Amino acid sequence: MRCTFESGPIRPPSEAKSLLLRCTRNCPWNKCAFCHTYKGEKFSFRTTDEIKADIARMKEIADSVREVSWRMGLAGAVTREVISAAARNPGERGEIFAVAGWLLEGPRSAFLQDADSLVMKTDELCDVLRFLRAQFPSIERVTTYARARTVAHKGVSDLKALREAGLDRIHIGMESGSDEVLKLVKKGVTAAGHAEAGGAVKAAGIELSEYWMPGLGGRALSKVHAVESAHVLNAVDPHFIRLRSIAIPPGTPLFDMWRSGEFIKPSDDEIVAEIRLFVEELDGIHSRIVSDHILNLLEEVEGVLPDDKPRILASIDRYLDLPPRDRVVFKLGRRTGRFRVLDDLTDAGARAGTEQLMDEMGVKDDQTLEEQMTTLMMRFI
Ligand code: SF4
Repeated sequence: MRCTFESGPIRPPSEAKSLLLRCTRNCPWNKCAFCHTYKGEKFSFRTTDEIKADIARMKEIADSVREVSWRMGLAGAVTREVISAAARNPGERGEIFAVAGWLLEGPRSAFLQDADSLVMKTDELCDVLRFLRAQFPSIERVTTYARARTVAHKGVSDLKALREAGLDRIHIGMESGSDEVLKLVKKGVTAAGHAEAGGAVKAAGIELSEYWMPGLGGRALSKVHAVESAHVLNAVDPHFIRLRSIAIPPGTPLFDMWRSGEFIKPSDDEIVAEIRLFVEELDGIHSRIVSDHILNLLEEVEGVLPDDKPRILASIDRYLDLPPRDRVVFKLGRRTGRFRVLDDLTDAGARAGTEQLMDEMGVKDDQTLEEQMTTLMMRFI
């Protein structure tokens, strides 16, 4: 069996159970100051024939895995035992695990890679979507990343055509709704451009997921970043607002700005206060706020507006009102996987383990913790 197909490097956290289909390679913009994902990589299109050949290979693998299941007397059900039996050939294991793992999770969603699939010609992307849906009728949801400028350039009628061909949701890295911040990080789009793109996606009947990056304005633009981002989102009312707190990877322009002192990264507590202001400013919308990225300190910042806003703000206040030492313990516990939510602070075992680690690392206060956190955060980028 021939089973090689391309995969890109990333997907949104919410697409962990999705089949990953690479439609273009890398990012056609590749200039955002905070982003290291495609640095040094050249953008290129893939032909529809190449993409469809990948889908056909995935289908071939799915069929062969199910055949193994039938031979094992499991009537086509995919279990871990079936996957082990199907992946005997070491040369094919990666691809078989990718497709069989998707079958195991329930093959209901697919994600189109890489950074901006909508740069493809609309009729070609529609062709790919239709072929994907035909090969895998179990798919209920197809999503992709796209840049706001590309989306706005497509326009509502092309977006509607994509919706009809089977595109259900677009993830846009808004990052900020402040023109000052967007310019600082070379996002290549304005706040008005974000609002236009978001409006077009919604007018086409496609679900819209907007990523906001707490901390991206640095200390200097923290307030304007929170307030103006909320105002853009108030104008758009996206289905999802997803938080992904700032990280500053080495090799990015933002890293150099940070090292030179041009950019001052807010502390974790300052970022939490910034998120509070952001949530406070969200008004008149019905979005679901999602905090599903490991870089976020508080998982509790989750819920549907407007009903859950008081609870979200109360969770943030609960953290900000903790005694300073408890905040340090929580931050370290969260970053080292001992804690997930604030209630975990009452877990005596996890707390004792975290406090022991604090002693071993020489963490005494916020400043020593921030120094250690910088090193730890790099592991999750
Ligand atoms: S558009 Fe997205 S993938 Fe491209 S450089 Fe910016 S953040 Fe990175």
